[in-house]
Amino acid sequence: MLEMPKLDLAKCDCCGLCVSVCQCGAIVMTSNRITIIETDDCGWCTMCELVCPSNAIICAYEIVFDNEV
Ligand code: SF4
Ligand code: SF4
Repeated sequence: MLEMPKLDLAKCDCCGLCVSVCQCGAIVMTSNRITIIETDDCGWCTMCELVCPSNAIICAYEIVFDNEV
């Protein structure tokens, strides 16, 4: 199962910002409800988490740059 950003629908006010910043179409709004679709195209950019004014999206992963390699 792919790791995708997690959505807390209870916090979401359907502003649509996350839909507009997602470059891979993983976030869609239908009937005033946000859905995150599992896709390999998610680049883990975390923009959906950053723009959400309600903290309704959490990217449950961390990108670590290892400069030792
Ligand atoms: S992390 Fe980026 S690519 Fe993935 S769903 Fe969020 S905005 Fe879209
Ligand atoms: S940015 Fe946040 S509040 Fe707005 S639609 Fe997306 S999840 Fe909901």
